[in-house]
Amino acid sequence: MTTRTPAQLQLEPAASAGQLSKVYGTGETKVFAVDRVSAEFHAGTFTAIMGPSGSGKSTFMHCLAGLDTITSGSARIGVTEVNQLKDNALTRLRRDKVGFIFQAFNLLPTLTARENITLPMDIAGRTPDEAWLKRVIETVGLSDRLNHRPSELSGGQQQRVACARALASRPEIIFADEPTGNLDSHSGSEVLAFMRTSVHELGQTIVMVTHDAVAASHADRVIFLADGRLVDEMHEPTADTVLDRMKHFDARRTT
Ligand code: ADP
Repeated sequence: MTTRTPAQLQLEPAASAGQLSKVYGTGETKVFAVDRVSAEFHAGTFTAIMGPSGSGKSTFMHCLAGLDTITSGSARIGVTEVNQLKDNALTRLRRDKVGFIFQAFNLLPTLTARENITLPMDIAGRTPDEAWLKRVIETVGLSDRLNHRPSELSGGQQQRVACARALASRPEIIFADEPTGNLDSHSGSEVLAFMRTSVHELGQTIVMVTHDAVAASHADRVIFLADGRLVDEMHEPTADTVLDRMKHFDARRTT
């Protein structure tokens, strides 16, 4: 293994995929869910993955995050080749380096907001960095809700607890799968604004799967998948430019 200097490590993407493919099934039922996708996700950036339903967005993100195995190519978190890790090492990588935000908030109903936020660290036997935790909780706007249980919080607040939980351990990267899918547009934009702030003010790295052009417009960059292939990339997206790009997929599908 080559040794990298700190300056070189800084330049390493937080995550990357190299010709990553994921094939389900065999013979006539074979599906190329992800087909030779290469992409880099740099530290301190917010990337959205867009594409029509069935284009491979979730599969790609799950492979990159080590939640699913890959068929060929590479998936890296930092400099670590996710696919070559044994079960225990993969569990540690997911626990220590990666944060997740899912469409279902996945909070434990019997725990308070604060207990939910620190739960992964409690399980890992790690002591939360109190100064960092305070900053995260203030950024998420939850300081006065910490002793509330999930049932006493709105959907948007619950998802902000889930965001704070993902950020609390300062993971190298956060993967979010349709994080606003269960929220009304107002709560959704609160959560997205928070995700943006966590990238631009706290230096977090976020990769988010979404089918919503408005959600994608909060990202710094959008990559587009179609039929498992990476087909386009857009910087500084707006809802209109993303919608416009998506219309081309729809038009192609109906012709
Ligand atoms: P998206 O997230 O863009 O909606 P997915 O990643 O869920 O797309 O799916 C991509 C393709 O892979 C689809 O054709 C889907 O039917 C197929 N697929 C996803 N998961 C499985 C699975 N576990 N077994 C077989 N095919 C799957």
